[in-house]
Amino acid sequence: MSDESRHDTPGLSSQEFRRYGKQLIDWLADYWDEVAETSIQPQVKPGEIRAKLPPRAPEKGEDFSALIADLEGIVKPGLTHWQSPNWFAYFPANGSLPSILGELVSAGLGQQGMLWSTSPACTEIESHMADWLVDLLALPQSWKTTGPGGGVIQGSASDATHTALVVARDRAAEEHSLDALVAYSSEQAHSSIEKGAKVAGFRHYRTVGVDDRLAMRPQALEEAMAADRAAGRVPTFVCSAVGTTGTTAVDPVRRVGEIARREGLWHHVDAAYAGSAMICPEFRALQDGLELADSYVFNPHKWLMVNFDCSMFYVADRRPLIQTLSVLPPYLRDQTSESGQVIDYRDWHVPLGRRFRALKLWWVLRSFGAENLRRMIRLHIELAQELSRRIDADPRLERVAPTPFALVSFRHLDGNGATDRLAVAINQSDEVYLTPSKLGDLSFIRVAIGQTQTEHRHVERLWELIDQLA
Ligand SMILES: *Cc1c(COP(=O)(O)O)cnc(C)c1O
Repeated sequence: MSDESRHDTPGLSSQEFRRYGKQLIDWLADYWDEVAETSIQPQVKPGEIRAKLPPRAPEKGEDFSALIADLEGIVKPGLTHWQSPNWFAYFPANGSLPSILGELVSAGLGQQGMLWSTSPACTEIESHMADWLVDLLALPQSWKTTGPGGGVIQGSASDATHTALVVARDRAAEEHSLDALVAYSSEQAHSSIEKGAKVAGFRHYRTVGVDDRLAMRPQALEEAMAADRAAGRVPTFVCSAVGTTGTTAVDPVRRVGEIARREGLWHHVDAAYAGSAMICPEFRALQDGLELADSYVFNPHKWLMVNFDCSMFYVADRRPLIQTLSVLPPYLRDQTSESGQVIDYRDWHVPLGRRFRALKLWWVLRSFGAENLRRMIRLHIELAQELSRRIDADPRLERVAPTPFALVSFRHLDGNGATDRLAVAINQSDEVYLTPSKLGDLSFIRVAIGQTQTEHRHVERLWELIDQLA
């Protein structure tokens, strides 16, 4: 493209968009092909990336090829490679190529799906994907948008849990003082429960003790609730986890649900990571009792090959959700909405504006098919079981928690020092990346197997490193 036409069209002409767009798809395809060979952590010091940027935004538009060049020169050196098959840290954020294309098209279409009428396709495909997932994961049928419940895509599990807490608070605050309301979770629950409770205005958040499998003890929950009632407080919300973040422990969802029903609490289930595994029938016993939940969240952006962000939030009954979150200024009044025939997703979460996130989910489900998604989950879980067997057989190491899914939690028997040193040494190899963590005072190492391209040989190499460095 000549200089002249750049002056004619600030930014990109559609012609240039075609050319650079194709170039960038090639660049990304190369990135995915080569990411396994890249050292997994960036070799940069704090401030080093910023130091490469000019102090002020440019007055004159730049040639787009310069922007692409900076992907190599500035961006890439500062990347932590989450999409590497050697990624075993935190939980995975396993994207995929169909999902990336869905994200691209979503950006290109620039939809805002706050009301049905502001993007019927965004709304209806989202509702339909939520319903597909009800069947794929064997969630309660009443959670379909065609029934009393329904699902919505939110940005993160933290957002979804916060939403559930706000609805629970609103319902309870009709009868009780805000000061009296109490939220509960196990002491192993994700920090988003406590944070959500704070943001939702709860003054009291209790963590409940766990058993030797790190699952919530229902009796401890009942005791904590009784103590609160005796002190004049009102148990309002309880979260049970299917797969805690620390060790993927599974709380007794049915027992917690029964207690919540009896005592009138809102029961939220956090399956942010492990929810994706339920696409395989053999793991569903671990979500037994979901029909006793008021709300539920899982993240296709963790382990179902949909790139961030895509978090599925379900409610068993959508009325309290909409009652709590619906605020109607005149400029959002809409005939179709008032007809009651459609879903307006703006009433299902805090933000008003919303992206067309269902597109990437739809494309992942269609282009892989449920069969291939099951195959991926089963492979990761089998690789985790294999690694567990090796750790169990090694006299230097032991697991600190069961491995119901694809997270292996283990430590060095020589103690915290040896465990911490082992984690550092493995990460310093720069071939793989895992997370050192703590259970109380006990150091342990988390190996989360779940990246889209992770295969047998990658875990094999990880084991060689553990074996050499232990
Ligand atoms: C990852 C995780 C979360 C937080 O997920 P975000 O989508 O990043 O907010 C919450 N709960 C559990 C159990 C998790 O594993």
